[in-house]
Amino acid sequence: MVRSLGAEVVEVRLPEHLDGLDALIIPGGESTTIGRLAGLYGLLEPMAEVIESGLPVLGTCAGMIVLATGTTEGDQAQLGVLDVVVRRNAFGRQVDSYEAPIPVSGWDEPITGVFIRAPWIAKAGDDVEILATVDDELSGDARPVFVRQRNVIATAFHPELTDDARVHEMLLSMAAAAKEL
Ligand code: GLN
Repeated sequence: MVRSLGAEVVEVRLPEHLDGLDALIIPGGESTTIGRLAGLYGLLEPMAEVIESGLPVLGTCAGMIVLATGTTEGDQAQLGVLDVVVRRNAFGRQVDSYEAPIPVSGWDEPITGVFIRAPWIAKAGDDVEILATVDDELSGDARPVFVRQRNVIATAFHPELTDDARVHEMLLSMAAAAKEL
């Protein structure tokens, strides 16, 4: 997705791969595995440092969980750079994965949210801007699924699985703005 927007992509597997990046994406997958491997390879602290020093970052699904400060389920390795507590697998099991149009604050057209064993945000700090929510069918509460806190954006869904590049464009424009500072 970011290549199609003209950006160059490098994979980050070791701390030195963080040098010289304009932005970082933490993808979906399994957040416990991402956290465990990032810990083993000494990536957790350096990632938290570059993000805290202002590097624009996008976390999708498991990536959102890795960015968060906590989960409702208990302990796992997290960066704690996004002031939210997430509920993992909030929509139920794999069979409950689904797609739905999600209205986004400030956007004319909704985005197609592709949710795959997705989390939602159970609790967000005051600095966290809620850009989109879904309705929790059980409680009727609106659950945040797209948020921004300064240089950190996170989606519970997978924008890279659609042909709608707006979330990635947002990250790249944050990167361009950060470079101008
Ligand atoms: N269920 C996964 C987790 O808890 C996230 C799934 C995903 O990234 N699509 O980490």
